[in-house]
Amino acid sequence: MPVGKTKIELIKGDITQTNVDAIVNAANTTLLGGGGVDGAIHRAAGPKLLEACRKLSGCLTGQAKITKGYNLAARFVIHAVGPVWRGGNNNEKEFLNSCYRVSLALAKEYNLKSIAFPCISCGAYRFPIELAAACAIETVKIFIEDNLQALEKIVFVVFSDRGFEVYNNLLKKESEEH
Ligand code: ADP
Repeated sequence: MPVGKTKIELIKGDITQTNVDAIVNAANTTLLGGGGVDGAIHRAAGPKLLEACRKLSGCLTGQAKITKGYNLAARFVIHAVGPVWRGGNNNEKEFLNSCYRVSLALAKEYNLKSIAFPCISCGAYRFPIELAAACAIETVKIFIEDNLQALEKIVFVVFSDRGFEVYNNLLKKESEEH
């Protein structure tokens, strides 16, 4: 779905294999590695990624920090810390929106042209995928509208058939409305 000059793509697969300038990691506040997509990214990037993360002194929920990508095809990894879902009345949506906003701002600051996002918070942190996808797409759209020249491509990388269906339906709806 093109918005201005920026293309939004949806892929089902492993984000570590995505050929973009930066992949976003769904990290935890320690930035010292975890399971899920974080574990996959650290395995694919190699031990230098953990070394780099150690120097960052952690990261607050809703924020993001950038490192190199080391052995990944991506030149950079943006480590974003999503909220743990606690029922929805604890600013979960705002924290998740902030993850996307700050990651996109970092990509812009580093002059990157393409970025790939996993479904931040939708694994161990239990954020409902329908709500998370709506947050992700909305925040990305606002960024694109405010930064028409910044990025060429934004990729959502989903891991499950269900995730693919949810994003695909929302993106289709969006493009029909515009
Ligand atoms: P969080 O703790 O933020 O919930 P998880 O890593 O547990 O992070 O899950 C986030 C999302 O990433 C989930 O939807 C999960 O299915 C997905 N995921 C796990 N491994 C990968 C991978 N290699 N590539 C893309 N997405 C992945």
